[in-house]
Amino acid sequence: MEVPKLQIPAPRGTNDILPGAQFKWQDSARWQHLEAEIARICHQYGYAELRPPVFEHTELFARGVGATTDVVQKEMFTLMPRGDEEGQTLTLRPEFTAGMVRAYLENGLFNQSQPTKIWTAGPAFRAERPQKGRYRQFHQWDVEIFGAQDPAADAEVIEIGLELARRLGAGELLVSLNSLGCPVCRPVYREQLKAHFRPVIHEFCSDCQRRLEANPLRVMDCKADAGHPAQRTAPLMIEHLCAECDTHWKSLQSHLRALRIQYQVDPRIVRGLDYYTKTVFEVLHPNLGAQNTLWGGGRYDGLIEELGGKPTPGVGFAMGMERMLLVLDELGVAPPPPARMDCFVVALGEAAKERAVGLVYQLRRLGLSADLDLLGRSLKAQMKYAGKVGARYAAIIGDNELAQGVVALRDMDAATQTQVPLAPEALAAAVRAG
Ligand code: AMP
Repeated sequence: MEVPKLQIPAPRGTNDILPGAQFKWQDSARWQHLEAEIARICHQYGYAELRPPVFEHTELFARGVGATTDVVQKEMFTLMPRGDEEGQTLTLRPEFTAGMVRAYLENGLFNQSQPTKIWTAGPAFRAERPQKGRYRQFHQWDVEIFGAQDPAADAEVIEIGLELARRLGAGELLVSLNSLGCPVCRPVYREQLKAHFRPVIHEFCSDCQRRLEANPLRVMDCKADAGHPAQRTAPLMIEHLCAECDTHWKSLQSHLRALRIQYQVDPRIVRGLDYYTKTVFEVLHPNLGAQNTLWGGGRYDGLIEELGGKPTPGVGFAMGMERMLLVLDELGVAPPPPARMDCFVVALGEAAKERAVGLVYQLRRLGLSADLDLLGRSLKAQMKYAGKVGARYAAIIGDNELAQGVVALRDMDAATQTQVPLAPEALAAAVRAG
């Protein structure tokens, strides 16, 4: 395949989503299928779509995601706006929850009957070092429930993701679960963690040394220091939960058992973002290599208040759409059959061409997928092209057909031909009947 050397190629870490892509996960038909399944399942589970903007004030992410997180400290694409916004920077969303909460508050959704169950899907941006499954522009499906404290809400958001994965054919997934406690029990635990790590913190990376006092939980899951013995012997949050968090934790697990969801308790999951309370979870796929987390989420009962609302519980998750499609490729899941063109109108000569233009327009108005040659090709070349684009029928119009008021309708699969009146309704009916 010849590819020109471009003076301006795509930025690093971005992907084109293409018709008939060489790598199936980049095929736009797969994306359309995934997006349609997402919209369908959200409707079935009672979630409504909310589309926040792609950028927000930088401060929203600093407050909502956490100023000490990698996402905020190292990975944000921040823009310098002009004019009336000067002085205030904007940032391309690195995740969705902060924007969803802002939109919920700003539009008064809390005044409607509660809980608010909302979803969104689209691009997110992080300045990470690109590799397979990790990009600078990637896509997430995000699901949130605002206003429900019940552990059944945690179970539901875990279940909806798994159900989508099952419908797509994503195979066996590994669900890992933890609890991060709440403002009552976590501070006590954090002090224990700090005391545990302090004597050996000089053996950890510079990030950990810096964040031990502000965010000791991150020292637990630091990838750079993975395997340090102090990580293995650290005290665990789930052993230090307050009564309320412990009840929530146990109730969530009994809901998951009732839903027959297999999971493992992994006390080391802390998740990258600061806002989580109580439940956190991650879902992995064993085939995905280094970037094997398909999605993650949890409960964030303090976030809505942090962003200016009344104290309101929240729970949700974000699934990486590229990673989900990569898994389907890895497993060899066949893409959905492409939607076929119903009818390619083949015209020979000027008069027939003029008639064909009108006919195609009418067929499209009647709801069919129809097209015609725009390159002045020969009859043979037009037929070949109709085959290439996968048309179900070719409707051929030449001088003879024009004179007789008919078209020759060729069934491209059966290689048979019939005559149909040269009228859009008759032609559409014949195509539909086939
Ligand atoms: P996070 O908000 O970091 O928990 O991300 C949720 C999910 O989004 C992850 O489990 C990934 O599937 C996906 N994801 C996060 N960052 C990236 C990235 N840079 N490229 C591709 N997918 C990502």
